[in-house]
Amino acid sequence: MPILKPPASFSATVPVLIAGAGACGMTAALAARDAGADVLILEKDSLPQGTTSMSQGTMCAAGTRAQKAAGIDDHPDIFFNDVMTKVNGKTDPEFVRTVTREAAPTVDWLDADHGIPFAVDTSWRGLGHSVQRLHAPPEKNGQELIGYLSQAVERAGADLLTNAHVTDVYADDDGRVLGVRVTRPDGSFEDIGCNALVLATCGYAADPEMIRTYIPDMAGVRTFTWENSRGDAVKWGLALGAAVADMSAFQGYGALADPQMLLFNYNYVIDGGIMVTSEGRRFSNEVADVSGQGVNVMRQPGGIAFMIYDQTLHERHKHLYETRQALAVNAVKFADTADGLARALGIDAAALNATLKQLEDIKAGTQRDPLGRDFTGTHPLAPPYAGIRVTGALYHTQGGLVVDHNAQVKRTDGGVLPNLFAGGGAARGMSGPTCSGYIPAAGLCMAMTLGRLAGRGAATLARK
Ligand SMILES: Cc1cc2nc3c(=O)[nH]c(=O)nc-3n(C[C@H](O)[C@H](O)[C@H](O)COP(=O)(O)OP(=O)(O)OC[C@H]3O[C@@H](n4cnc5c(N)ncnc54)[C@H](O)[C@@H]3O)c2cc1C
Repeated sequence: MPILKPPASFSATVPVLIAGAGACGMTAALAARDAGADVLILEKDSLPQGTTSMSQGTMCAAGTRAQKAAGIDDHPDIFFNDVMTKVNGKTDPEFVRTVTREAAPTVDWLDADHGIPFAVDTSWRGLGHSVQRLHAPPEKNGQELIGYLSQAVERAGADLLTNAHVTDVYADDDGRVLGVRVTRPDGSFEDIGCNALVLATCGYAADPEMIRTYIPDMAGVRTFTWENSRGDAVKWGLALGAAVADMSAFQGYGALADPQMLLFNYNYVIDGGIMVTSEGRRFSNEVADVSGQGVNVMRQPGGIAFMIYDQTLHERHKHLYETRQALAVNAVKFADTADGLARALGIDAAALNATLKQLEDIKAGTQRDPLGRDFTGTHPLAPPYAGIRVTGALYHTQGGLVVDHNAQVKRTDGGVLPNLFAGGGAARGMSGPTCSGYIPAAGLCMAMTLGRLAGRGAATLARK
């Protein structure tokens, strides 16, 4: 995507332009409005949805008011250490400091000033977070979150133009963005000028060519992502001389109901469920790495696995949005015995019985798990059983534009581009270079935390 020289004139000029109306773009708009700037968000789709709408609406943050209200003691330093442990130290600590410090003020501000009712999701624990710090609105799903954000954006007086595909960026020789071209579904276009641009167009999970280039091991695998994640921000950034990092990183997930292609809840596994192949055997420590488990599942015969749990765990989590969806299409199977469940799911019955017997021994403490999972405190599975056939997929990419403490895009020479900001999937995440570094709910943490910094930074710069 080449950067174009500016046209003779722009149809309009706004102080802060934001490309993309997902969690990042919307949060950036709220922050820019709070800082007193006029804002225009440009969204390719006819409705703001994005990857955000596919998510569970959950963001991690440490030291929030919601945590204090729930009696949870946490601090950005603990969050920082958890992230650095998850990535084996292979990321930029200064950047992680910024995100882990700014996440809680972001949640508190969205809640108090913009009416987004965040509470701590106490049904999740572990998987890299040493403290319960996942925050979400009550229904815990992305469509609810995007709904709250859309209402807040309207209340704040930020303008949103939908069916507005940003197809080109105009800049001068110093890399100062002067405006963008917006192309409409009917092919017509207009050129809009700006003082600062926030790139919030997410990553490149839906661009097969970029996946082939940056994550060759994942070329051709199933992706479960928003189709507009075509890497536009990275392409423009590279053309402007921006630095990119961790381009091989992504979040995988191994619990997508198959063949329904519905995200299914991992709570059943966290609370003591297991995952087996069609041959009835476990193949991984299911809680060692929830993102890497996506790849583990993809590697099983046919790319298929089965999540096995029981009626008690079903009752505990059946209220969850994703579970309700799966139940509505009969994706979850129930049986009084392991034989019955094996028949319902198409698993080798003798092997499943043997796996469940071994699990009983492991949970009773009479043998160690050969796969290294610590089942302490988890529920002992007992009949009647429940299970679901699942597959793995690549959800979203974690590499992207390198940004500073204001979410301003850095150049390869270490300086910053004069008026370009980025956040969410457009920016490099805090997962390091692999899929295993992804810590749960980091995607929306990056979107909203960097969105707030980018919006504030862009507004400050636009006023100068
Ligand atoms: C199934 C699934 C579940 C997930 N669950 C979670 C979770 O619970 N917690 C978590 O933290 N993360 C989760 N993630 C990741 C999280 O959803 C993303 O990291 C986050 O939504 C990214 O936000 P964003 O604003 O950067 O991108 P998006 O929400 O994708 O927004 C980008 C917007 O830009 C628009 N756009 C793209 N190109 C252009 C263009 N050229 N011109 C104009 N508009 C454009 C798109 O249409 C889109 O609306 C999940 C991801 C998936 C796929």
